[in-house]
Amino acid sequence: MPENNSTVEALYRHFGHTKFKSQLQEKAVNAAVKRKQDVYVSMPTGSGKSLCFQLPGLMRENQLTIVFSPLLALIKDQIDHLTKLKIQADSLNSKMTVKERDRVIMDLKAVKTNIKFLYITPEQAATKFFQDLLQLLYKHNKLAYFAVDEAHCVSQWGHDFRPDYLKLGDLRIKYKDVVWLALTATASKEVREDIYKQLRLQTPVAQFSTPSFRRNLFYDIVYKNSIEDDFQHLAEFAHHCLGDPKEFKGTPKSQRGCGIIYCRTRDQVERVAVGVSKQGVGAVAYHAGLKTAERTQVQESWMEGVHPIICATNSFGMGVDKPSVRFVIHWDCPQNIAAYYQESGRAGRDGLQSYCRLYYGREDVKSIRFLLQQDSQRARGRGDRELLTERALKQFEKIVDFCERVSCRHRLFADFFGDPPPQCNGQCDVCKRPKRVEKALEMFHRLCMD
Ligand code: ADP
Ligand code: MG
Ligand code: ZN
Repeated sequence: MPENNSTVEALYRHFGHTKFKSQLQEKAVNAAVKRKQDVYVSMPTGSGKSLCFQLPGLMRENQLTIVFSPLLALIKDQIDHLTKLKIQADSLNSKMTVKERDRVIMDLKAVKTNIKFLYITPEQAATKFFQDLLQLLYKHNKLAYFAVDEAHCVSQWGHDFRPDYLKLGDLRIKYKDVVWLALTATASKEVREDIYKQLRLQTPVAQFSTPSFRRNLFYDIVYKNSIEDDFQHLAEFAHHCLGDPKEFKGTPKSQRGCGIIYCRTRDQVERVAVGVSKQGVGAVAYHAGLKTAERTQVQESWMEGVHPIICATNSFGMGVDKPSVRFVIHWDCPQNIAAYYQESGRAGRDGLQSYCRLYYGREDVKSIRFLLQQDSQRARGRGDRELLTERALKQFEKIVDFCERVSCRHRLFADFFGDPPPQCNGQCDVCKRPKRVEKALEMFHRLCMD
């Protein structure tokens, strides 16, 4: 009998899913079920990370899983979801009525506990009351797992550090024989190392991470000083990526290829949208200066394929999931490697060949650097703010440095996420035509000297 038979069966019984969403999800669940090691799961948003602790938790009879989650809103969503599936999940927080709270506590202290998942914010977890409760649950052997959702919150390198997450490490020491599961969306190497260290996960940790490498994306860098007409260059590239419109006669507009051009400022967004449109490729502008209704309308017209190109500031893209994005262009240098990966990664979600291009200009870099330096100066002596602005500047310099080097573009991301070097296979300008990139870079440096 295959070892996963019982997990597949439980998956169907509890959630109604006939199969795992991915091999990684299945492997992570099986590792947790084995209870031999702490488990770390890093997969993109929407990959089904919750199931990696929920299914193992449900497979432990007479035990419950403690889930740490940073926000009450997230907690509510998860509890609602589980309740619909007839799985008992509760929380203990300041928003509850005394009656609700008493009901939860009664159940936890009863000889037989019905609650399978107890959701807690790290702030709540730190209270004396909760610490005593944990002690009691532990004594009666009622603890199945500790799960830390959004585990990147423990890291000062992450984008939303929560100091209270740091205290969770003490619990790891206190309850040595309870297995810990830490989950987060794609995290950098630094963040992952921080999670291991701060949560004091027991090594070797069973690690399940989606590889960062996207084999269907071709990356290249074009030095702005090497092109004559900006808009013509952009339009030609867009045309090349989108293919001949005649070929798509039968395809509904919304499913045809489309693209995103990221610019740094509203002015640039407007300028590029107009400029590219004049070259005969329909483009709309999206930025925070538009009214909400206008923004929605612009986004919809792009989603529906009325305009194939959207020019946008980086406020665009969260939650946008259009499979047929054939190219993502950065007309200005991205802020850092994480943002570059995330923004360019909106291309080719359908797995088809797609293109990510960065237009690099010394002048843009100078002005971004200047702004970041100003931020940093203003934040002097203001604790966390100072740290954040300094870090932003350092992270920007990393991407600048990368743009001025001849090194596989996919390798950049692999190093950042701590993955082994990927088989690029000519999916970047450096691997495809190294000589040409060297020349372009030489020219770039020469012109910058003048
Ligand atoms: P994440 O935390 O990684 O962002 P979630 O745990 O919120 O993702 O899950 C995203 C969606 O995937 C949910 O709607 C969930 O019900 C669904 N899902 C999870 N596992 C499976 C599966 N094996 N089969 C089908 N749907 C699944
Ligand atoms: Mg989640
Ligand atoms: Zn390469």
